[in-house]
Amino acid sequence: LHVETQLGEGVAVPIDGNPAHYLIAVMRVKPDDIVLLFDGRSGEWAARVRDIRKRDLVLDCVSRTKPPEQVPDFWLCCAPIKKGRIDLIAEKACELGVARLQPVLTRRAVVDKLNLDRLHSHLVEAAEQCGRTALPDLAEMVKLDALLKAWPVDRHLFFADETGGAPLEQSLRAQPGPAAFLVGPEGGFDPAERDAIRATPGAVPVSLGPRVLRAETAAIAATSAWMTLNGD
Ligand code: SAM
Repeated sequence: LHVETQLGEGVAVPIDGNPAHYLIAVMRVKPDDIVLLFDGRSGEWAARVRDIRKRDLVLDCVSRTKPPEQVPDFWLCCAPIKKGRIDLIAEKACELGVARLQPVLTRRAVVDKLNLDRLHSHLVEAAEQCGRTALPDLAEMVKLDALLKAWPVDRHLFFADETGGAPLEQSLRAQPGPAAFLVGPEGGFDPAERDAIRATPGAVPVSLGPRVLRAETAAIAATSAWMTLNGD
């Protein structure tokens, strides 16, 4: 179960809302039962149930059961797309192991605002489901030109380019190390954006195949390919 409290030996962890309902009404925990918790940063912890009330409870953190997780150094940078589809990207990005989800505002984006709280809940749910204890870092949305201007020189920027790019497997194998994938919105990148991305040091345009994929399919396929080749 994910908690916001920073976990450590002896820390009291108050739980309310949906997580409390889940523990009390669904799992029917009793005093002294052990529940596994994670805070997204410090691994997994065993905690003992102490006070159970009608709608909330308190657990006492006892000991660490898993060390902090090592996450592959991969960022997924993607344009905001419609609700439901971006939620799917967040869920799958978390399951596949991304270290950071970076929303990027582009000219043809049909959505220009994102509900980061909602995306955070999808990340948490996905982490609980797949047994991941380190939550991806969910960054504030930035404009594409700002992202490119500040691009770190030591991180490969694989650019999913539906108009043509190098074959995927060859490019990923040839360039190990910290990486990111950049995926466009429903309407794709415009030509000036494509030029700016190509001109960014470290950028490598890659193709995900001959068909134009939906933005969420491209994001998931690109992440999956990188993780398969580099993500242990
Ligand atoms: N109109 C569809 C939609 O609503 O999602 C297709 C959108 S496609 C233009 C969105 C992004 O997915 C592109 O900007 C690109 O980054 C990526 N993409 C899609 N197909 C691709 C391919 N075959 N190779 C590389 N990137 C691709």
